[in-house]
Amino acid sequence: MKNIVTGGAGFLGSHLIDKLIERGEKVLCIDNLTTGSINNISHLFENDSFEFIEHDVINPIKLSCDRVWHLACPASPIQYQKNPIKTTKTSFLGTYNMLGLALSNKARFLFASTSEVYGDPEISPQDEGYKGSVNTIGTRSCYDEGKRVAESLCFDYFRTHNLEIRIARIFNTYGPRMAKNDGRVVSNFICQSLMNESITIFGNGNQTRSFCYVDDLIEGLLLTMESSCTGPINLGNPNEFTINELANIIKNKINNEANFIYKILPDDDPKQRKPDISRAKKELNWEPMNNLDKGLDLTINYFKSII
Ligand code: NAD
Ligand code: UDP
Repeated sequence: MKNIVTGGAGFLGSHLIDKLIERGEKVLCIDNLTTGSINNISHLFENDSFEFIEHDVINPIKLSCDRVWHLACPASPIQYQKNPIKTTKTSFLGTYNMLGLALSNKARFLFASTSEVYGDPEISPQDEGYKGSVNTIGTRSCYDEGKRVAESLCFDYFRTHNLEIRIARIFNTYGPRMAKNDGRVVSNFICQSLMNESITIFGNGNQTRSFCYVDDLIEGLLLTMESSCTGPINLGNPNEFTINELANIIKNKINNEANFIYKILPDDDPKQRKPDISRAKKELNWEPMNNLDKGLDLTINYFKSII
């Protein structure tokens, strides 16, 4: 199999590439290195099965392949809001171009969608039938609406051109290779604690998230690509924590003097998030194996090694 992985120098993309290479497949990584890093893929440069092209997916590209894994897009709110127009272009034009690439090769196409398509959900847990509650004009909408229109494009390529598509709706995932300055909550809290800085809790900290360890998520993506289910399919760990709970767990693990500092809650920050993974259990026979305790230990060890 020749795989194209867009966003392959990023957090999830680089772990996905490692697994594909381990399985003896060929991988061509496309990335413009905005939030990704060469460090995440440099260990593969000597490997004949691996190739890297620095390229922005908002521009078309001609390549041959059997599978397209389309992950290119900044995922952290702080990162995707730095240049929101670019985020929308990446979601729409990037997905449009990569769907075109898949179609020209008759390749199967997997899209990395997100729980953000549910917006600030009124129901919990969120199942794939829930249509979501998204502010179309808010600061998060470049990402949320970008991902929604990208899902829509995938389904129109399926209905119009019979392209084989797979849509994975990824919920908050964490682990080694998140960038130190990524801005998402798990890496922020760990880095702040390790550096004895104040832990920044946004709002009152009662909002919830459910955290999936990266290895589980990658296994889910691999199964999604090979399954016969177009999706959308939720991938995440249903273990739900408030942000206050997460801050306390991380502080206790690192065992230092870091204090909590409460900051203003960003606009449209979802109050609750928890995946219903019944579809993934049924269609993929998948569920996460690593709990937060274990996943955090592995992630803390990683950040200790790079800070
Ligand atoms: P990341 O920011 O670490 O990786 C994204 C990668 O895409 C980076 O390497 C970046 O340089 C690259 N990229 C961004 N814009 C690009 C462009 N225009 N052209 C080419 N490359 C571009 O984020 P991640 O956590 O690895 O997320 C990967 C994908 O998974 C994203 O599509 C994200 O929306 C989705 N996702 C992730 C999570 C999560 O919790 N990690 C949750 C939901 C969805
Ligand atoms: N958050 C926080 N402190 C931080 C970073 C994030 O309290 O330093 C909160 C954020 O407001 C949100 C949750 O943690 O409620 C998860 O944020 P993240 O950016 O990781 O991802 P999101 O799920 O919001 O896309």
